[in-house]
Amino acid sequence: MIFTALAVLLLPLLLGFFAGLLVPPNKNVGVLLFHRISKGIPLSLSQVSAAQFEVFCTQLSLSRKKAVLFSEFTMQKDEVCICFDDGHKSVFDLAFPILKKYGFTATVFAASGIAGGEKIADFYSTKNMMNAENLQELSQNGWEIASHGVRHLDLTLLNDETLAQELLNSKNELENAIFDRDKADRGDKACLVSTLSFPYGGWNERVIEQAKKYGYEKFAVYRKHKFADGKNIIPATAIYPFDDKKDMQSKICGEIRGTTVVLSTLVPHFAKGTPIFFGSKFYNLRRKTVNKRNLV
Ligand SMILES: [Zn+2]
Repeated sequence: MIFTALAVLLLPLLLGFFAGLLVPPNKNVGVLLFHRISKGIPLSLSQVSAAQFEVFCTQLSLSRKKAVLFSEFTMQKDEVCICFDDGHKSVFDLAFPILKKYGFTATVFAASGIAGGEKIADFYSTKNMMNAENLQELSQNGWEIASHGVRHLDLTLLNDETLAQELLNSKNELENAIFDRDKADRGDKACLVSTLSFPYGGWNERVIEQAKKYGYEKFAVYRKHKFADGKNIIPATAIYPFDDKKDMQSKICGEIRGTTVVLSTLVPHFAKGTPIFFGSKFYNLRRKTVNKRNLV
């Protein structure tokens, strides 16, 4: 276990250090992605501490960029979009008050199962996730609540029927839990869930086409950036526990270089949004369920 954790942590750092010298700067950023916030030292690659998050907010204030919601984000240079995947309770408890203090709003891509108290994946316990009231409160404070599937499954690995259920049910469950259903049925955009972030960053053309059928208009992708069109498919860059003030500044300014580009590519590959201690278990599950015909 400890060796897996060390390998997952150190391998990207080492590869990143050497390969970073060869990689050109990536200017394709603006959507900044978090998963969880920790009170103390972060224990996984998907966490940053509350203190680091405060540094991020200070840097964002100094940049004078506008923090816009994901559905409004158009990749303009003066825009940044703060996103949280999964719907972890620490976002409500720790990130929400900090963002409020700085006057920023953000987008939560929530696995909709959490709104009904459902356990969404092996690695998060239900008590650590936001409930429907938390999501409602965020929405009432100007946040966007968007979809991350129902049960946090890799959508590229599902057959057509299960994929359709994940996409449609997630949208409906979030709309029912948070918004006025009658207004949503009348097409009131403010009451509709129209954006999606893919669990584990797993996406392909088939998934996007299906999602469009069910009313999704815009997609955040944190893997396979080179296929993002920058219009409906928007690249997202994660902030990691090892990002210092300077790294955060570069990511906010939309100009990440060398080592940071490599780490931003390698870490999603190794971690896939999964807490590192459960990484090997997840990889085994994944190998069993991969259906090659569904992959890009
Ligand atoms: Zn996720």
